[in-house]
Amino acid sequence: MHELGIVFHIMDSLESVAKENSLSAISSVTVEVGEVSTVIPDYLTDCWAWAIKKKELLQQCELVIETIHAVTHCDGCGKDYDTVAHGRICPNCGSEKTWLITGNEINIKEITVPEES
Ligand SMILES: [Zn+2]
Repeated sequence: MHELGIVFHIMDSLESVAKENSLSAISSVTVEVGEVSTVIPDYLTDCWAWAIKKKELLQQCELVIETIHAVTHCDGCGKDYDTVAHGRICPNCGSEKTWLITGNEINIKEITVPEES
């Protein structure tokens, strides 16, 4: 499953961050998921819940998913438009010379750590 690979990738990144900063726990991670990426947020959350059970560092770590709005740029008229609503053909001029500016990415945006007590 595609989502599981992404979960492992996120976990690897968090583990190296934890190592570099000598963290013993991470309380949440915010991941940005593009609107037209192939990731299904519900699957991602399910995989996460399953995968973190084996990692002491991430036992309490909540996965927060933020969606990035997909935007396409048209070389024909130079305008940007909503990818999900219009697809590959520019709604302004009908050109097919278009490319996705944003909306296909998966990024780790931020990590929070438990407050020291
Ligand atoms: Zn156009």
